[in-house]
Amino acid sequence: MATATPTCPDIAAIVRQVIAELRTGAPPAPAALPAGPVAAPSFAGRHGIFTSVDEAVRAATEAFRQLERVGIAGRKRAIEHIRRISIDDAVELGTMEFHETRIGRLEHKIEKLQVLGARSPGVEFVTSEVFSGDHGLAVVEHAPFGVIGAITPVTHSLPTITGNAVSMIAGGNTVVVNPHPSGKKVAAEGVRRFNAAIHRDLGIDNLVCLVAEPSLETAAELFNHRGVKLICVTGGPAVAKAALQSSKRAIVAGPGNPPVVVDATADLDHAARSIITGAAYDNNLLCIAEKQVFVVAAVFDAMLAAMERAGALRLTAPQVDALTAKAIVMAGEGAHRHAVPCKDLLGQDAAVLARAAGAAPRDGLELVFGETAPDNPFVPTEQMMPFLPFVRCKDVEEAIHRAHESEHGFRHTAIIHSHDVRAMTRMGRLLDTTLFVKNGPSMAGLGLGGEGYLSFSIATPTGEGVTTPLTFTRQRRCTLVDDLRILGSADTLD
Ligand code: NAD
Repeated sequence: MATATPTCPDIAAIVRQVIAELRTGAPPAPAALPAGPVAAPSFAGRHGIFTSVDEAVRAATEAFRQLERVGIAGRKRAIEHIRRISIDDAVELGTMEFHETRIGRLEHKIEKLQVLGARSPGVEFVTSEVFSGDHGLAVVEHAPFGVIGAITPVTHSLPTITGNAVSMIAGGNTVVVNPHPSGKKVAAEGVRRFNAAIHRDLGIDNLVCLVAEPSLETAAELFNHRGVKLICVTGGPAVAKAALQSSKRAIVAGPGNPPVVVDATADLDHAARSIITGAAYDNNLLCIAEKQVFVVAAVFDAMLAAMERAGALRLTAPQVDALTAKAIVMAGEGAHRHAVPCKDLLGQDAAVLARAAGAAPRDGLELVFGETAPDNPFVPTEQMMPFLPFVRCKDVEEAIHRAHESEHGFRHTAIIHSHDVRAMTRMGRLLDTTLFVKNGPSMAGLGLGGEGYLSFSIATPTGEGVTTPLTFTRQRRCTLVDDLRILGSADTLD
């Protein structure tokens, strides 16, 4: 077979040229640069802060490519920085969030960051499943989506970003956040600190990017950006609806209105302490927090007395009416007109609510409450303030049905205080909520005083539940046919 003769370089000619140049002192001609694509400018050094959605997505895409190269160990190191900052800087950042948003309680803003640092799920959740048999091996791996677009609420601005960032990076993703405009400054400061520390250690910047001047327009741009592979929203009905209507896959942590049922078998003092702990936390801003209570008539008066013993302030009927008129207002037009909490009282201290009702608060008051009719606007409205309406019910069946009605089918969170297992089961089946807490405060459902892990994004209508790193991964199956079996082969059977 004929072969082509390789062309040898003319060595003698090259040597002659070099000697001639040395004699004349002329500098050698510069070597020609290979033609190729011009490298895009890197976004390193921006520490995640962008005014343009497109730039933020491009920076997060660049960071995603870099994250892919550092493996699980790199993800783990990045997350450790976020966790450390959220514990070490909790007082400073929590105070910043409290002053910027002007809602909730300072000690709980701080605590929310600290518990996320300690309790949010990490890379240990990203395990593979293996199927091994006569026909070989199949490994199901959990691969990242890429860049995730996240929307976060004012009720926990930096905590939601922190929890999302830990889970999303553990899953191998990067994220661009469009925060609530009223919590954008603390969001930017937290994101800047996270990225600066990760960049210093790993040389990767912008794992978490933030739209510094967020608006509904930037949210829509983020939803529709072709570089965004998955959406994760945490917020109320409007943003949940917008995400569910988006053309991209969305993980939706939507609104709740968690009801509580107390029946005649409950330990009333324990129930009262639990209800106060859950409903007063951060002035009732948590989406899982107790919002209305249905108590059977046989123990109604005893339960209200237990609430007073546990430190809550009981309002009289005229005081409840006065507070209702100020705290719940109408919004929207025509068929969309509905009751919403008044912004001036949302997330305010119990003492502020007591004064608005015409009552005198004592020092350290955490919660006010009062008896209401089932159709009081506090019952169907997600009030997000430390006042709880208590509704008297004939029996546990009525209590469960009223609880169901008040939850609006969000299937978010419900709580029961009872030792009647069958009542618990009936309530669990009817309300069919993502979190169902028995005989404890609502936050036990997030592992705070109960078992399990913590996240401030609880995906309700889309069904992923308390989000973890696995929520932000795609299943990828890798199959090897026949080889790597150690148990023998099916074709050896007669
Ligand atoms: P919100 O709905 O007013 O705002 C949430 C976010 O959505 C903000 O960033 C806001 O700018 C954005 N947004 C609002 N409408 C939008 C639209 N049409 N398109 C795109 N973005 C839009 O809620 P909030 O007051 O900040 O937070 C409280 C609400 O969030 C409550 O309803 C609470 O139950 C819910 N929440 C749910 C969870 C959960 O895990 N399920 C956690 C926290 C809060």
